[in-house]
Amino acid sequence: MTPTADRADYAVLNDRMGYLLALRVAIASITLAWVTFRPETLVIPFTTLASWTAAYLVVSLATELVRRRTTVLGHTLLTALLLIDGVYLAAATYVTGGTQSPVRFLVYLHVVAVTLLASYRTGLKIALWHSLLLLVVLYAEAAQLLPAVDVLPGQAIAFQRMPVLNVTAFWLFALATSLFSAMNERELRQRRADLQALVELGARLDDVADPTRQAAIVLDGLAERFGFERSFVVGASDDRVVVLGARQTPELPTTSQEPDSIVRRAWDRHALLPVRSFDPAANPLTATALPGASHVLVSPMFADGRPVGAIVVEHRARRILGVERRVAAMLGQFASIAALNLRNAVLLRHVRDLAERDSLTGAANRRMFQLSLEQVLAAAPPARRPAGVTAVLFIDLDDFKIVNDTLGHAAGDGLLVAVTRRIGDLVRETDLVARLGGDEFAILTDDDVDLSRSRAMAERLVRELRAPYLVTGQQVTVTASIGIASTTDPIDGAADLVRNADVAMYMAKANGKAGFAVFDPGMHAAIRERHELGVEVQRAVELAQLRLVYQPIVALETGRTAGVEALVRWDHPDRGLIQPGEFIEIAEENGAILPIGRWVLAEACRELARWDAGGTRSDLFLCVNVSAREIQEPGFVDGVRAALRECGMDARRLLLEITETALLRATPGTIATLNDLRGLGVRMVIDDFGTGYFSLSHLRQFPVDALKVASEFVQDERAGSRSTALAAAIIALGGSLGIETVAEGIETEAQSARMRELGCVYGQGFHFAQPMSGETVLAELIADADRLAAAEAEAIEQARARVDRRRVLTPRLAMG
Ligand code: C2E
Ligand code: MG
Ligand code: MG
Repeated sequence: MTPTADRADYAVLNDRMGYLLALRVAIASITLAWVTFRPETLVIPFTTLASWTAAYLVVSLATELVRRRTTVLGHTLLTALLLIDGVYLAAATYVTGGTQSPVRFLVYLHVVAVTLLASYRTGLKIALWHSLLLLVVLYAEAAQLLPAVDVLPGQAIAFQRMPVLNVTAFWLFALATSLFSAMNERELRQRRADLQALVELGARLDDVADPTRQAAIVLDGLAERFGFERSFVVGASDDRVVVLGARQTPELPTTSQEPDSIVRRAWDRHALLPVRSFDPAANPLTATALPGASHVLVSPMFADGRPVGAIVVEHRARRILGVERRVAAMLGQFASIAALNLRNAVLLRHVRDLAERDSLTGAANRRMFQLSLEQVLAAAPPARRPAGVTAVLFIDLDDFKIVNDTLGHAAGDGLLVAVTRRIGDLVRETDLVARLGGDEFAILTDDDVDLSRSRAMAERLVRELRAPYLVTGQQVTVTASIGIASTTDPIDGAADLVRNADVAMYMAKANGKAGFAVFDPGMHAAIRERHELGVEVQRAVELAQLRLVYQPIVALETGRTAGVEALVRWDHPDRGLIQPGEFIEIAEENGAILPIGRWVLAEACRELARWDAGGTRSDLFLCVNVSAREIQEPGFVDGVRAALRECGMDARRLLLEITETALLRATPGTIATLNDLRGLGVRMVIDDFGTGYFSLSHLRQFPVDALKVASEFVQDERAGSRSTALAAAIIALGGSLGIETVAEGIETEAQSARMRELGCVYGQGFHFAQPMSGETVLAELIADADRLAAAEAEAIEQARARVDRRRVLTPRLAMG
């Protein structure tokens, strides 16, 4: 017996000495009772036995009292007590009839009691002691030291057979008792150890919050406790599972997937599922994690009644059933502790996510981005990294506000989620994508000094993000402007880098949106200037700094001017002439476009009235550009009506141009406005057609009277180019829908001829005329009318001459 086991046995007995004391009192009482009942079997005087018994009890009691008071001699005293028990029992047996005495059964009782109360090992030792004493009794009996008595009258048993019979019977009994006790003990020990393992597991799991580390602890615990060497844990949410940990298995997928069918079955059963063999096709995870396994146990994990995962282990089939049941029970316990901890860990992570993640899109939030960037910069200060740089891409959606205002916030949110997903697909796995707030996103990446990778990424993002999204059942498009900044520029911390990227993004917007720009320090000045321009443009109308120029639109068939397009110019007192491309967008951003638009429309209508008064053609049409922002303004239709009425202009002569990209953001409200305008008689033109993502269904949806083919398709003269094909397609489309087409930006006769051949009705461009002042147009129109009148006059003259000639000839003929 090992000292440890010895001490353990002692510890057990120590707690139960009260029972042994009671046993001693019982033994003594039964012995005295027996001799009182059958005094003839006692071969010594009763008083002698009574005094032995008293002495036995006194010594027992005294020893026990001492034992309880001392901590050092405890084990020795206990052993002494057990030995004294034996001596008393042997003596009592001997004086009451020896091998025939019923007192001998008290020896059996003693062995059983010690075996059960202490351990089978102590029991065996006591049995050895008792059998020694038994032999002493037997030989004393044989030597007839005391006179023999007939306990069972007439059934005296011959001594010769006694030792063997008695000792064998005694030992068989002792061994059987020990065996059952040993089994009992083993089971108890295992249970104790299991409980211990469970308690330890709980404590270890409590210390970690990361589900993958928790999974590793559970699997190690199972291997240590039950020898399950191959196993894995999956976590589940929304009917998908993800591998949290695995032991001794090949690389497992880290992405979420469909649960294996055996896992599903275990969930349905709500209990441990033993599996003999499984179909690898329906259980791809198990097949990969436990290749070649045939006996598998699946323990489902539940928390709050919902499946949160499962533990899958391979086990050796040859275990006997009882142990298996214990293992099964324990596996279940492991699983439920793991499930609770897993749930807590997920909750904890969720709580942490709330601090680190954007709740709408699941991307990192601004705080997280800032922290990560700070960490990256601290780990590799720019000075200490010759090769690579840290780059930030700042993404801002163009005109996202319009989407939100017109399609509603649910659609806006849906769009942000879709955009986040698309950005995630376009970056590298190591890049960090964050939503900084609103429609602003940022990407943290590393790159070479030339920023080639970031540029390529930005280009890809600009291109891919503008493709339509399906959000709350409708198609939505949005473009993005991106700014890139990196540690190549001197910065003073993370915030500086983000600010630089923001500035570059702003420049990308200023350059016409849907593009990207790389930061350079000069941009700060440019942005300041843009800001100043924004302030000034708000007073441009009031200060009468705007004027209009008009560019003729000619009928390609005849080459005659059919209408004009009004284009705004800003005569800035300090900056000189500013083109609309430089300020319309700024005005759209800050709302200055509203007064500007009203002024442009009124002025253009007045100009047309002036030309009419000058006696020019009354069929000349007038195109006026309007921004989406203007159309969305309530009262726009009334404004147009008022402008027309003021100059007494026929509404059918007015065409409003709106760009394709602006129309793409149109809402049911916009469509209603366009319909109202057409109700007035005003016609609608889609400007720069072909540059956006307009689809045929849009064309059907919008009330449109004319398309302006964007100049990039008109000016591309390479035969067979995509642009040429697109121009042809747009014109053909217009023709088949009964929509007139205008080719913009015609600069050469060749372009003009080609557009004419394609069937385009009108053309506009420097080839025909530059935009010019109202007076010039009037002069040209009058000159044109004069030329026409002169030509007509000449034609009349010629006709008259022909008639005259005939008159002169007729008499001749007559005379002839
Ligand atoms: P847009 O409506 O497409 O106008 C055509 C632009 O192309 C004009 O530029 C015109 O000068 C230019 N253009 C005409 N023919 C040719 C050519 O043969 N070659 C080239 N390269 N260009 C040609 P502009 O006047 O600078 O106007 C630019 C844009 O500003 C306009 O494009 C229009 O979208 C916007 N815009 C102009 N005036 C107004 C206005 O009063 N209100 C609004 N909302 N936008 C305006
Ligand atoms: Mg236009
Ligand atoms: Mg245009």
